[in-house]
Amino acid sequence: MGDSIASVLGKANPDRSDILAMLQCNEEEAPLLYRRAAAVRDRYVGNHVYLRGLIEYSNICGKNCLYCGVRSDNVKIERYTMSREEVLEAAMTAYKLNLGSIAIQSGENSSNSIVETVEELVRSIRKMTDNRLGITLSLGEQSRETYQRWFDAGAHRYLLRIEASSEALYRRVHPDDDMHRYHRRLECLKAIQETGYQTGTGVMVGLPNQTMSDLADDLVFMRDFDIDMCGMGPFIEHSDTPLGSRGTDNLFLNERFNLTLRMIAVLRIIMKDINIVASTAMQTIDPAGREKAISCGANVVMPNLTPARYRSGYLIYEGKPGYREADESNVSGLNLDLLPGTTVELGIWGDTPHYGRRRTVR
Ligand code: SF4
Repeated sequence: MGDSIASVLGKANPDRSDILAMLQCNEEEAPLLYRRAAAVRDRYVGNHVYLRGLIEYSNICGKNCLYCGVRSDNVKIERYTMSREEVLEAAMTAYKLNLGSIAIQSGENSSNSIVETVEELVRSIRKMTDNRLGITLSLGEQSRETYQRWFDAGAHRYLLRIEASSEALYRRVHPDDDMHRYHRRLECLKAIQETGYQTGTGVMVGLPNQTMSDLADDLVFMRDFDIDMCGMGPFIEHSDTPLGSRGTDNLFLNERFNLTLRMIAVLRIIMKDINIVASTAMQTIDPAGREKAISCGANVVMPNLTPARYRSGYLIYEGKPGYREADESNVSGLNLDLLPGTTVELGIWGDTPHYGRRRTVR
């Protein structure tokens, strides 16, 4: 019989077996884990939530990830790229709403015109907002030079999800070709970190054939990589993809949801001062999913600022909230009154203490 959850939680430096024990704690013990994670969040990054206005810039993607509705082989979606004016308008909406930061996300596209356009957009947004709006990019695998250009233009955070830190599992959910190589993904993540970005990654929880051991390894991977931020969520099938063509089992969805809460809580406990997103995917399974994630130690929420007419084209998974009900100002997910035990911090970038500490130590 292993250690009780209380004794594991008392350890200053949990090792891999402690991480696995926390992930596998029973239903009675889980609230203790969640409360500890929220207390760690409050102590190391404060009991508040930061906002990132999400702009889904384009759903044109050269890749074919087996789980993703935006994959290039999905001919059922209408492809779009927001105009420069639309991106700037969305950024200004974030600025006027005092969100503090935006996140620009897109399918993967490394064409010269996209690299230049993003560079120019980042510069313009910084100028228009007098450097007051933080900018996160999540635009996939790019060359070192591109990461540097966007960083020099003024982007300061980059999110590139590893999706599965096990190479074997990664290969099972991606096509076996040169566009989808695990080691290329790792190299890009390293290049992002070395360029100087606050570096984020994340995984899907509940992939077919994924084990608890894989999930423990995912958390160890994030700690070893010394990430500054994490966006992870439950795997949710999309019916127009190879991994989703057989539909979704709601029982498993609930399991994935609960497992994601545990992943968030354990990550907070082992990486105390990073930023952790309460993902929209959590809200897809449970309307209160975002709030529950915050109760378990998450501290970032991403209201969607993508113009309403584009949202149905950016369904990486099915059932994503907010794509039918965008209001006139094209903002969804801003109902933040019920975030448990926290306050929303407006008007600041919301950087992680971890990043500053990491840069000082080097
Ligand atoms: S997960 Fe990203 S890179 Fe893969 S198909 Fe979807 S949008 Fe493209």
